[in-house]
Amino acid sequence: MKIIECNLPRNGNFTRRSKTDEVILHHAEASSATVWDINDWHLNNGWTGIGYHYYIRKDGSVYRGRPEWALGAHAVGHNDRSIGICCEGAYMTETMPAAQLASLKALLRDIMGRYGKLTLLRHKDVNSTDCPGKNFPWAEAQDYMNEEKEEHKVTQAEFEAMYNKVNPLYKTIDDVPGYWQQVVRVMLDCGAIDGGTDDNPDDVNMRHEALKAAIVAYRAAMHQ
Ligand SMILES: [Zn+2]
Repeated sequence: MKIIECNLPRNGNFTRRSKTDEVILHHAEASSATVWDINDWHLNNGWTGIGYHYYIRKDGSVYRGRPEWALGAHAVGHNDRSIGICCEGAYMTETMPAAQLASLKALLRDIMGRYGKLTLLRHKDVNSTDCPGKNFPWAEAQDYMNEEKEEHKVTQAEFEAMYNKVNPLYKTIDDVPGYWQQVVRVMLDCGAIDGGTDDNPDDVNMRHEALKAAIVAYRAAMHQ
């Protein structure tokens, strides 16, 4: 589990939490905020530093907040028994990105693996608040033992490879399928298609579907 350590500024020393039997989930209630932003906000509250033990950004990066052993400042009446995890985002309205959910579940697996099974709660389960928001993926978070696969994003190169497979580009007449070569030769010679270049009479430079349409139109014209 990669945790980014960032030595956040603090105002004084943390005290040790007496026990750990809960994990409480929060959202930042901010669409975009760094762990340093949150730390500043909480220092401005007069606290020792960031109230949470972990902060997960939308891109899935996980930051250390206060030390895991420290008494937190994130859920009134439960700070002396819980680890607090905050997710960047405003999940009353937004939807959690797959990368962030995958990291949240990985972090929960990591924590539960070290402490044994702790009670997983949302902030609103213990205090009067909307946190972590009605769109927070609570069912998925509770299913943390099942690894979340990050959605596979198709790269430009992969997309082009797929597109070339379904609709290949014929650069010259030699690339054209045999069943079309005769008609394409005639079309090139009479100028019905020109391949975009004047110097090479064999240039086609058309994709399969466009060439098919041109052939259909050419044959229809010839039969009139
Ligand atoms: Zn909260």
